[in-house]
This record gives sequence, C-alpha cells and structure tokens, in this order.
Amino acid sequence: MSELDLILFGPPGAGKGTQADRLRGDFQLPFISTGDMLRTNVKEGTDLGRKAQEYMDAGELVPDDVIVAMVADRLQQGDAQDGFILDGFPRTIEQAEALEKQLSELGRRVTAALLIDVPDEEVIRRLAGRRVCVKSGHNYHVEFDPPKHEGVCDQDGSRLIQRDDDQPEVIRNRLRVYHEKTAPLIEHYDEQGLMRRIDGTRPPAEVHDHIRAVIATMRLEENV
Ligand code: ADP
Ligand code: ADP
Repeated sequence: MSELDLILFGPPGAGKGTQADRLRGDFQLPFISTGDMLRTNVKEGTDLGRKAQEYMDAGELVPDDVIVAMVADRLQQGDAQDGFILDGFPRTIEQAEALEKQLSELGRRVTAALLIDVPDEEVIRRLAGRRVCVKSGHNYHVEFDPPKHEGVCDQDGSRLIQRDDDQPEVIRNRLRVYHEKTAPLIEHYDEQGLMRRIDGTRPPAEVHDHIRAVIATMRLEENV
C-alpha cells in the first residue's frame, strides 16, 4: 500500500483548519499545519518564532528557506512515514518544489492536492468573524459557527480571541499575497493531474463529507 501524502489547499479562511479538526478522527494521518507550528513558535518565543512574527503580523509569507526547513524536519518524524495531510503548505512554487524533492528522495510523491474553493467576498466575511481558542486554536465564527457560550471554546472551555492577523487591513494583504504567490499552485497541481476541487461555500458538514469521500476513494485506489 502507498502512503497518502495529501495537501489541503485554499485561500486564507477557506475552512482548512475547521476541516482539519473534523478530519482528524477519520483517518490515521497526522495533520501538519505550518500556521499552527509558527504560532506555537511565536508563543514560545523561539528564534524561529521571532523571525516569523513580523511577517505574520503583516500578512506576508514567512521566507521560503525558513518554512521549507521547518517542514522538512517535521516530515522526518515517525508519524509522517505513513502519510500526512499538510495544511497551509506549500504556499509558493518554491515550497512545492522543495516538498517534491524531499518526497522523491524517499521514493514518494504528493498523492493529491485538495482545493477548498471559496470566493474572496466570502473569505473576507469568514476571517472578519473568526474567533479562535487560546489553548488549541479551535475555530469558530461569530455568525456561521458560534460557540454555545459566547467567548468560550466548546471543546476545551478556554477563551476565544480574534487573531491579530484577522484585522481588515491584514486580511486584504493576505488575500493579495494568496492570489500572487499561492494561487499559481492550482495550475501547478492541475498540470500534474493532482488537483481535486471541493466547493468550500457549502456548510462545514457537507464540505467534510465531500473531503472524506475523496480521501476514502483515493485510499481504495491506493490499495488495489
Ligand atoms: P482557514 O484555516 O482555511 O484559514 P478556518 O477553518 O479558520 O479557515 O475558517 C475561517 C472562518 O470561517 C472560521 O471563523 C470558521 O468558523 C468559518 N468557516 C469555516 N468553514 C465554514 C463554512 N463551510 N461555512 C461558513 N463558515 C465557515
Ligand atoms: P490561514 O489560517 O489564514 O490560512 P495560516 O494559519 O495558515 O493562515 O498562516 C498564518 C500566517 O503564517 C500566514 O499569513 C504566513 O505569514 C505564515 N505562514 C503559514 N504557512 C506559511 C507558509 N507555508 N509559507 C509562508 N508563510 C506561512
């Protein structure tokens, strides 16, 4: 059986983190979110965190060499040997090429890139209303997915806050950066026949069902 080496892809606010939370229980694959890894480093005040913070606050991409080294390290860990789901990486052609090189040295390749497709106006509505829990980063939306008790995480009872980079100015910049640097990856994976599109405007449960069905089908195909 081959590994499932998957990329979860889409504009900021498409619902990648929301779907990662739902998919975690479905498949025995580690979720690797570069945004979460960077935020942990910022919180812990590591060298990497200090380097990354100013880019993150401005909604710019952290330089490729920093990110590529961080992901390369993570993919060498034991739990990633049987496959993984990457969230928020790759975000540039350079990052995609670095990933392909690392995988090919292991005799592996990207199985598929799942694009959660959402238009810009919806991205802006979602990010402006996003709230995250301080403990584990669980996602909510003030209107589309409110917690049971205002300001409190349903899953671990911790406080909900607005991310610093979910301010209107920074949201606009993140979208600009997405279209300029990350969207070209759609064509990159399309050309390789690896891109699977998911309609991200549907409610979270429907998006989840769709992704689960796509992954389950791939798993069957890999098994034959
Ligand atoms: P990403 O990780 O791609 O940036 P998130 O999962 O954090 O996106 O979602 C961004 C915001 O949109 C959150 O506030 C989340 O609650 C909300 N959201 C996620 N999926 C949906 C959906 N299918 N419909 C409406 N709102 C959603
Ligand atoms: P979102 O949930 O909005 O999609 P992320 O949590 O994935 O955003 O990323 C937050 C920030 O972390 C980005 O705006 C960027 O500064 C940085 N970042 C995350 N992943 C990468 C990456 N692969 N390359 C460069 N910067 C990244």
